[in-house]
Amino acid sequence: LSQEDMKSYGYEVVDAIVEHFVTQNDKLPVVSGSRSEMEKLFLEEAPEEPTDPKQVLNFVLDKVMTKSNIVSHPKSYSFVPGPSNYISAMADSLTAGFNIFSGGWQASPAAAEMEIVTMNWLLKMFGFPQKKGGGIFTSGGSMANLTGLVTARTVKCGDDFSKAIIYLSDQAHSSNIKAIRILGFKKEQIRIIPTDNEFKFSLNKLKNAIAKDRLEGLQPFCLIATAGTTNTGTIDPLSDLAKICKKEDIWFHIDGAYGGFAILSEDGKPLLKGIEKADSLTIDPHKWFYQPYEIGCLLVKRHKWLSGAFTERPEYLRDIEGNTSEINFYDHGIELTRRFRALKFYMSIKTFGLTEFRKAITYNIKLAEATESLLRKSPNWEVISPATLAVVNFRYNPIGNQLSEKELDELNQYISHEVVNSKEALLVTTVLNKQVVLRMCLINPRTTMDDIIDTMNLCEKFAKEKMTV
Ligand code: PLP
Repeated sequence: LSQEDMKSYGYEVVDAIVEHFVTQNDKLPVVSGSRSEMEKLFLEEAPEEPTDPKQVLNFVLDKVMTKSNIVSHPKSYSFVPGPSNYISAMADSLTAGFNIFSGGWQASPAAAEMEIVTMNWLLKMFGFPQKKGGGIFTSGGSMANLTGLVTARTVKCGDDFSKAIIYLSDQAHSSNIKAIRILGFKKEQIRIIPTDNEFKFSLNKLKNAIAKDRLEGLQPFCLIATAGTTNTGTIDPLSDLAKICKKEDIWFHIDGAYGGFAILSEDGKPLLKGIEKADSLTIDPHKWFYQPYEIGCLLVKRHKWLSGAFTERPEYLRDIEGNTSEINFYDHGIELTRRFRALKFYMSIKTFGLTEFRKAITYNIKLAEATESLLRKSPNWEVISPATLAVVNFRYNPIGNQLSEKELDELNQYISHEVVNSKEALLVTTVLNKQVVLRMCLINPRTTMDDIIDTMNLCEKFAKEKMTV
């Protein structure tokens, strides 16, 4: 491509991204596409011959970029939405464009320093020790949990983890179980502790399990708490769990992938008391810190734990090892070749200022509370788990109806199915206390109360349809 061709190609890409940001609220958030429909569009042999670049681009813009749910859409309520921001999207374009290797100091001292600087911001934000603490950006929360658990196992067990036992609640995110399995723990080494009626780690059951394991000569070594469960937004009793871990000499990992950034809001901060006591903490800026995918993060109390767990000294890297004050992030985590994730984090904070993030997070928490109030005022809706951080769970259950639990489950499943089919909103179910419930995760600052009222009206329309047949 000539310089002019590259520019005009790039301008079209930027135009498309800007257009997406400007018009996304007016589009439908849900798309659908079966395997056969997608194959019809895309399946072909790898072409030997070139195609005109603009033709490929136009095909992609038209057929590919339009076939994904819009996770930044105000009515995208499900899973953990991804309300991204433009500055960070542009930062990602820069990192890809310059193809910066963010693994070793010597290859990119500015990228490494920027990761150190942004990590210091995060250590301070979460009350972790500034000098001794450390951390690393990862692809997401799953990778941060895995990195944290590798570190925990290395520090607490060394090479022999045959008797090591790990504790987590039945509301912990599935990525933790995945990480435990990847690490080679057997099923018998995992204790899934039931939660109480607020979906929090049950302390008594945990203490009993630890005592029983000790009696059997096993090694309780790690506890995974959650600061903002995916299902309900619930925060485990962090300070109490920290005390148990300290007394029992157990590694305290907190998965704050979903809820951690609530610490930036006056409303969220007190709820997260105790988060600073974690040995390792997962947070996930591509969730409630409005970053485009992929950026997760692991913070640790001692940066030496990371280098202890991950440093290798192959001969082909000896010339770029540098001196001890120069951090090679490939020695602090799993990846050697890493993209420059710190840049988008840095540029968005510099551009907007933390105050803007605090405002957005506070807005989200208040929006969830307002949604709960709205539901409670209606005789048709039952709140199943109250607005916690920014998640609220509810079901359609009109006062005085004669429906059985099974029928209520079917009704709420139907509502979700029809809402998603209408493509007007992405609202799916989860299961709490064996009941099928609708779940809203309201971390998008662009979502308004009107969006929520619209969606509830749509739900009621489908509910009434189903109840009259
Ligand atoms: N932990 C929690 C509590 C989550 O909610 C999620 C994702 O929703 C994860 C971990 C996994 O994070 P990621 O999807 O970024 O890998």
